[in-house]
Amino acid sequence: MNPPAALLPALRAIVGDAHVLTEGDLTGYELDWRKRERGKSLAVVRPASTAQVAQVVQACAAAGVSIVPQGGNTGMVVGSTPDASGTQIVLSLTRMNAVRALDGGNLTITVEAGCVLQNLQEVCEKAGFLFPLSLASEGSCTIGGNLGTNAGGTQVVRYGNTRELCLGLEVVTA
Ligand SMILES: Cc1cc2nc3c(=O)[nH]c(=O)nc-3n(C[C@H](O)[C@H](O)[C@H](O)COP(=O)(O)OP(=O)(O)OC[C@H]3O[C@@H](n4cnc5c(N)ncnc54)[C@H](O)[C@@H]3O)c2cc1C
Repeated sequence: MNPPAALLPALRAIVGDAHVLTEGDLTGYELDWRKRERGKSLAVVRPASTAQVAQVVQACAAAGVSIVPQGGNTGMVVGSTPDASGTQIVLSLTRMNAVRALDGGNLTITVEAGCVLQNLQEVCEKAGFLFPLSLASEGSCTIGGNLGTNAGGTQVVRYGNTRELCLGLEVVTA
């Protein structure tokens, strides 16, 4: 199925020309971490806010185009790369990497989906706290991907999987 020709211009209007990637080397988005599967995306789209994510999802849903969310692309099961059809959008959350707030009184931290796990750990450590999720990919993986996979890591027996560390989510649905 060919997506409506208007989709790519619509996506560019939402996130800006520079953040709808269709050309050049897209290996980092289209090749899975274990280098077993190489996909082909219609475009890689990189929103900067929840509002932009919502608009991108709405535009893709209207066009009947499926979306593959992607964080650090360190997953081991080819869940974060597109198939080979060239019809799927990779929705990369890496620009949404802010730490929004740390509440020491309530022992909570609020971060965007694309926040790299190591950044989150370091912000907590500087404030005198431990964020216990730790895995060898922590310099690249994102909290959105950690939640998507319910990652465990080296301290899972003591502190639980990522879902045990999460109090709430802001979610965009189709
Ligand atoms: C060296 C190494 C060590 C690892 N060690 C461990 C380990 O100890 N324990 C463990 O559990 N895993 C481990 N992993 C696997 C991987 O790092 C984790 O699964 C990690 O949680 C994936 O995060 P990511 O940001 O790279 O997600 P991605 O690989 O980008 O995505 C993973 C899945 O989550 C979805 N997703 C990503 N972001 C979002 C979002 N914002 N919203 C909705 N869905 C989203 C994707 O579509 C995909 O299905 C390891 C990987 C490597 C390379």
